Amino acid sequence: MKQAEAPPSGKWTGPSHAGVKAPDPILLADPAKRFAATAQRLKHLAAGHPMEAWLRFMAALAYAQHVVATTLAPAAVLTSTMVAQATEARLPPLAADGHRRESSWREGLLLLLDHIDSSELPPAAVEAIEQLRHRDAATLDTLADHFLRGVLAASDAGAAVFVAAALQVYFTGSAARLQIDDLRLLEERALCPCCGSPSVSGLVTASGITPGTRYLYCSLCSTAWNHVRAVCITCGGTRELFLQGIEGDAGVVKAETCGECHTYAKRLYQVHDMQVDPYADDLASLGLDILIAEAGFARHAQNPLLLVGDSEVVAE
Ligand SMILES: [Zn+2]
Ligand SMILES: [Zn+2]
Repeated sequence: MKQAEAPPSGKWTGPSHAGVKAPDPILLADPAKRFAATAQRLKHLAAGHPMEAWLRFMAALAYAQHVVATTLAPAAVLTSTMVAQATEARLPPLAADGHRRESSWREGLLLLLDHIDSSELPPAAVEAIEQLRHRDAATLDTLADHFLRGVLAASDAGAAVFVAAALQVYFTGSAARLQIDDLRLLEERALCPCCGSPSVSGLVTASGITPGTRYLYCSLCSTAWNHVRAVCITCGGTRELFLQGIEGDAGVVKAETCGECHTYAKRLYQVHDMQVDPYADDLASLGLDILIAEAGFARHAQNPLLLVGDSEVVAE
């Protein structure tokens, strides 16, 4: 099944002929639901999973994110002029590596740490939490900058998951305050129209006005945007795309591999499970990543909660 290319701007003017519905180009997340949904799904997926303990930790982390998102609700408020200037220059208004964060992201981080039960955490994680609590504002901001630019020092890898989680809450809250009509898809369609980050996974819808539509979900600000299905999100190639999954599973999660650029991206099928979550199901299908990596494909972009030990983490 092939779908028409979405319009190049976020301003969709309506179907070109009667009876044909076009997918919404951009969907903003609801911060009050986004992290709770991921937490609940992770808990469900953890039961009996080979990585149960780790998935339960990630569920607890998502729940701590939910608490921060719904109580402190850290966010930047951009004026419509700022948003217009960015979109006219074809830039994401909340550019992850350029946006000047409000200090509330750091308060969000501390509140997040308060809601992590460290009694069952490995000693290294407990130590990372303790260190984060005692770092000054400038150090935390440098840590966040390094994380967002993909140049985190190896010695900070233990803190990365908590910094990433706090930044997700902040950027999700910030994106949710934007007006959808002010936003435009970027020319680089693989990147988020709000913050310019890569996606964590793509979800093919089974409900709504345009079932069968692929939405990519931002790894940082949780915005979803439409991306045509029959095209590699990394190189735009169409000739050597294959869907690969784990034999005998429910078919919810597949890897879309591209033989042209040797990358892959996850694709999730709502039609096989209406509860599928772009964040939780990506984490719980780490086994598929390992299989696809063994077959010689590189993931299009890392899940930011998994940066520990990643090649993007560079030595000091
Ligand atoms: Zn984003
Ligand atoms: Zn490709």
